[in-house]
Parts: sequence; structure tokens; C-alpha cells
Amino acid sequence: MTDSWKTENIDELVTYIAELVVQELRGVPQAPQGDFSIPVEVSNRHCHLTKETFEMLYGKGKELTLLRELSQKGEFAAQETVTLVGPNMRSIEGVRILGPFRKFDQVELSFTDGFYLGMELPLRLSGDVAGSAPITIVGPKGSVMLKEGAIRAMRHLHASPEEARKLGLRDGDRIAIEIAGPIGVIFQNVVVRVSPNGRLAFHIDTDEANAAGIKRQGIGKIVRYKH
Ligand SMILES: [Zn+2]
Repeated sequence: MTDSWKTENIDELVTYIAELVVQELRGVPQAPQGDFSIPVEVSNRHCHLTKETFEMLYGKGKELTLLRELSQKGEFAAQETVTLVGPNMRSIEGVRILGPFRKFDQVELSFTDGFYLGMELPLRLSGDVAGSAPITIVGPKGSVMLKEGAIRAMRHLHASPEEARKLGLRDGDRIAIEIAGPIGVIFQNVVVRVSPNGRLAFHIDTDEANAAGIKRQGIGKIVRYKH
């Protein structure tokens, strides 16, 4: 033991004790609990299609087949997938279609997907596709070249009106959500989306999830409000 107290070891010892104290003060990182805990869901690349586009890809009269329901009421992952082709002729296969059909086509990709496909993806809220990136979609019965529709989805928090009221949030608010953990991050500019079919869930894409060390699901905490 006496060796530990030699002058050359004192710095090391001080650092060690300081680390122990910091660990003690911080406690073991754990998911925040209580009313302000927010379920985090990771959105993998996917697309929303019109019935017309879907029929061009899968054939007239074909319907979407339910694979699993999603957290947002009425939304579901379909068994059907598509292949996306970028302007550099690279492709991504097995891209899930989410139902039900929508009034516009929208392909949601991560920036990493965009690099791979050779595309500049605009950062948009779901539904805001005017002037977004063109992309080619391939199905078993045909292909469609969309003039616009490919976006990187802006991170957002879904909530029902009741949940929003409890959390003191309003539709369109921008808040910050912290993800704890060894590579924890604080996501700024999370857009609050309140709707009757909404269920409390913070949606991030796979790039964001990787940055925060989240696989499919996690827990976050609201750390800043801004109306
Ligand atoms: Zn969402």
C-alpha cells in the first residue's frame, strides 16, 4: 500500500478519487421516471404512398396487408415493401410501406441513406413534401419516378390533446428532449405534433438513434420548453 502514496502516484490517486466522487454524485445512468418520461421510437426508412402509386407498383386492385400496428392510432406497417433507386443508380431494397394510403407520396430516409443514394434530402415535417427530392420507387409490377417526395423527417413528438395538456405542450411547440446513457444526447428543435389520433412518442430516425445509442426504442425526458 505504501507504494500508492509515492509522489508519482498521487496525481493518479487524486484522479481516481475524483472519478469515484463524480460517479457517486451522478449515480448510475438510468431512464428518467415520472410524468416527463417520453417513449422514444426509432423510425427506420419507410414510405407513405397514394393508392394510385401503390397500384402502379403492386398491380391494380391490390391492397396493403397488415404486418403490425404502430403506436399512432390507425397507422400500420404493411407487409409490402419497395426498392428505392437513387440518381447514382444505387438502390435500397426492402423499404417498408406504412399504411393507410395517403393523399401524397412521401419517402422518409436518413441522411446516411441519402448519401448512399446520391441525394440531397431536405429536412421536412411529414406532409411537407412540396419541392422535396425526386426518387424512383420499384415494386414487383412496375416502377414510379416521383418528381418530389423524398425527405429526411424532422424529429417530432406525437401527443394526443390530453397528453399535450398534461405536459403543458401545444401543437407546433419546439422543445428539447434528452436521451440519457453513456452516449446520451439532447435533441433540440423537436416539433410537437398534437392530434386526436396521436399517442405520446418521440420519433427519431436511425441516424439520430445511432447517435444516442438507441436500438429500436428508448426513453427520453423533456428538458426545455419553448412555445
Ligand atoms: Zn412520427
